[in-house]
Amino acid sequence: MKRYDAVIVGAGAGGGIAAMVLAERGARVLLIERGRWLDFNTTGRDHLRNHRLSLYGHNTGPELEGNPRVYVSPTGKETKVRPHEGGWNNVASGVGSGTVVYGGQAWRFHPLDFRMASTYGVPEGSSLADWPISHDELAPHYEAVEWAVGVSGGAAHPGYPDRRDYPMPAFPFTKKGRTLRAGAEKLGWETRPVPLLINSIPNQGRDACAACQHCVGFACPVDAKNGTHNTAIPRAMATGNCDVMTHAVVTKVEKSGSRVTGVRVVVDGEETLIEADTVVLAASAIETARLMLLSDLGNEHDQVGRNLQGHYYAVAWGLMPDPVQDGVGPGASISTTRFSHGNEGIVGGGMLADDFVVLPVVFAKWFQNPAVPKWGKGHKDWMRYAYRRFLTAMGPVHEIPHPDCRVTLDPSVKDKYGLPVARLSGTTHPETVRATEFMVARAKEWLIASGCEEVFSSPQELHLSAGQHQAGTCRMGDDPRTSVVDRNGKVHGMENLYVADGSVHVTNGGFNPVLTIMANAHRTAGMVGL
Ligand SMILES: Cc1cc2nc3c(=O)[nH]c(=O)nc-3n(C[C@H](O)[C@H](O)[C@H](O)COP(=O)(O)OP(=O)(O)OC[C@H]3O[C@@H](n4cnc5c(N)ncnc54)[C@H](O)[C@@H]3O)c2cc1C
Ligand code: SF4
Repeated sequence: MKRYDAVIVGAGAGGGIAAMVLAERGARVLLIERGRWLDFNTTGRDHLRNHRLSLYGHNTGPELEGNPRVYVSPTGKETKVRPHEGGWNNVASGVGSGTVVYGGQAWRFHPLDFRMASTYGVPEGSSLADWPISHDELAPHYEAVEWAVGVSGGAAHPGYPDRRDYPMPAFPFTKKGRTLRAGAEKLGWETRPVPLLINSIPNQGRDACAACQHCVGFACPVDAKNGTHNTAIPRAMATGNCDVMTHAVVTKVEKSGSRVTGVRVVVDGEETLIEADTVVLAASAIETARLMLLSDLGNEHDQVGRNLQGHYYAVAWGLMPDPVQDGVGPGASISTTRFSHGNEGIVGGGMLADDFVVLPVVFAKWFQNPAVPKWGKGHKDWMRYAYRRFLTAMGPVHEIPHPDCRVTLDPSVKDKYGLPVARLSGTTHPETVRATEFMVARAKEWLIASGCEEVFSSPQELHLSAGQHQAGTCRMGDDPRTSVVDRNGKVHGMENLYVADGSVHVTNGGFNPVLTIMANAHRTAGMVGL
């Protein structure tokens, strides 16, 4: 078809949910995705080419050739990077995008995560701001996606008496989870299971998790991981109202005055114009901003692409005297939200949890002990000893955004369609570094109380942060001078253009972001005028 009620660009977390809501509301929807349908058979288990460790490539996309970005380091060095290289800041590509290969931690943001500026003031030089909507306004949408997509977590958090329990029981604590629980008890810290978008029991006609070791970074061999590819998008298609177009790259959104009229999409090298009454952008924070800039949309106040953020990770790890790694997937089982807020002298905070099962090669690369050789017999002896004895505590830290951390169009580098690529520059605000240092110290404290004999961490420094948790580039707000979309996700000044992905996050919470992206998309798609 050449005309739809709504065209959605990007079939990931936000786009998939928006498609479900709009199709179920009766709209004729086209969901356009540059990648392909993804599953375990086509994405495999290559330990060096996946979304946890992409040394030589990755397992979803985009293609390594023809899709560069330009990364500008904090010292101003410009590098043309390919999609699997760190500076590119890839989420994933394909139907479901990150939700196919994610670990599926299903956190709601804390109510104060929506009120950062009111709670802490605005650190000088930062663009810290409150969200225009509150946790309570988003709460029904959180609950809707928890049930539509499927979260294991058991009882609702006791701090929210009106909250419905999760649809599935929590995963039991792993051996390392039990070890960390004992440590937390010594410290007097409360802990909870990590809520996961993974079936702890058979759900929606699909199996329960088979506890393999390849959860984060890979597709699931038994289809027990819940993303938009196996929940929201099939639901949208089941209405008969939603077409999904893959291997299709949207290159421009067309407009006439204050209305968008459709999108230009390239399939097999041929460009087509598809007309739409409404366009919803959900191409993830970097590509949505790039598409807005390429289409000259919403940027009257030079806000598109600013406030790029993701998550600094507070990571500590240590060695236990006896093995604690039981290899039981998915692996992330215990968490504490004790340090989300209320940390003296710190702006915000974060959540700490144990990690998913860590592949041996990832352990060797990331969890290095400076005293141990990186190859040869000494390294092998270390791996044999340490791999089953290591324990981690880690988690995302609430970033303090900086207006100059941004996506712009590169003046010289072009993609395979001849279009300027995204140029990523700037850094987060120094308060993010301080908060991360604080959280790393708490992670170490937890490990020591749990029995670790030696603990390690890396120094924190200012850098650009976007990555798999990228957000913020089309900020939501009431004032068009400081934001790009309004509280309902509609682009200021436009009548029928919406954004429904991580771009709209004012701040990115002290938690993994996907449930908030989905909840916002659910809310926004319900607001679209049909
Ligand atoms: C390995 C991994 C682990 C993760 N673990 C967690 C976790 O445990 N918990 C959590 O909360 N989050 C996690 N995430 C992050 C989560 O997946 C992302 O936050 C989320 O998918 C982002 O949603 P989005 O809608 O903003 O964009 P995406 O889900 O990335 O969707 C964007 C889609 O748009 C497509 N696209 C882009 N440009 C175009 C174009 N021009 N034309 C057509 N299509 C286009 C892309 O190919 C992509 O499929 C993880 C991500 C990864 C990769
Ligand atoms: S740990 Fe469970 S949900 Fe994750 S990939 Fe393995 S079987 Fe699937």
